[in-house]
Amino acid sequence: MEDAGADWLHIDVMDGLFVPNLTLGAPIVKCLRSSSALPFDVHLMIEDPIRYVEDFARAGADIISFHAESKSDARATIRRIHDAGCRAALAVKPNTCARAVLPLLEELDMILVMTVEPGFGGQKFMADMMHKITRLRRACDEAGRQINIQVDGGITPETIAQAAQAGANVFVAGSAVFNAPDAAEMIRQLRAAASNA
Ligand code: ZN
Repeated sequence: MEDAGADWLHIDVMDGLFVPNLTLGAPIVKCLRSSSALPFDVHLMIEDPIRYVEDFARAGADIISFHAESKSDARATIRRIHDAGCRAALAVKPNTCARAVLPLLEELDMILVMTVEPGFGGQKFMADMMHKITRLRRACDEAGRQINIQVDGGITPETIAQAAQAGANVFVAGSAVFNAPDAAEMIRQLRAAASNA
């Protein structure tokens, strides 16, 4: 599998319950594992993520993100992810406030701010999420925590600059890269736009 210059491979897992779509599960992640040396960043858009942490860790996940809006207890899920040897990230949907993340800053390795409603590709970037990123970055700085802030949804060379300015430092690009005539060139453009922001 060509990595086209990406740093990580972001894998969206949807269960048809937490979001209407159904994508892939741990067996497919395991199949992909032998085809790529990139870190696997597995984004669980599923209702009860704590039940599946070990499955995805065994399948080769390096980073596991789960949603603050899921049914699983966040602190217990983070602990389970760390016990499985992975880095833990908490994801927040557009309507979920930064406050949902703040009590967990000490435990988290990354925060994922959704800039579209999770569940479908190709949606428009929600620029009004930038204040959430700024607030979270400030809270991390105040807590002395160097946590990655990841942005997922509608990332293009234009929107990546806004997200980087707001304080994000990890960017998920789906449609921009996969619909580009040259994926590697698009990744170069995205990287340049983020670092010049
Ligand atoms: Zn995602």
